[in-house]
Amino acid sequence: MNCPYCGKPASQTQCLHCGQDTKAPRRVCRSCKKMTPQNVDHCIQCDRPIKSDLPWKIVIIIAMFFLAFALSFLVAIFR
Ligand SMILES: [Zn+2]
Ligand SMILES: [Zn+2]
Repeated sequence: MNCPYCGKPASQTQCLHCGQDTKAPRRVCRSCKKMTPQNVDHCIQCDRPIKSDLPWKIVIIIAMFFLAFALSFLVAIFR
């Protein structure tokens, strides 16, 4: 198999070329669209910080909560 990070042949779980664990969970970097380990803060390819999806989900949940609150408020007014 080839190393998912640098593309060079890697027979072991740790790539001899880039030193990364080829079996570790990984994700696609949003900046460079290359593979980077999931447990790092900065992309190993382009060194940009990897942002989690969680803050956006929290924003959406809060927005939905306020939308539901506003709707129930309007229903209470126009009833
Ligand atoms: Zn590699
Ligand atoms: Zn990157």
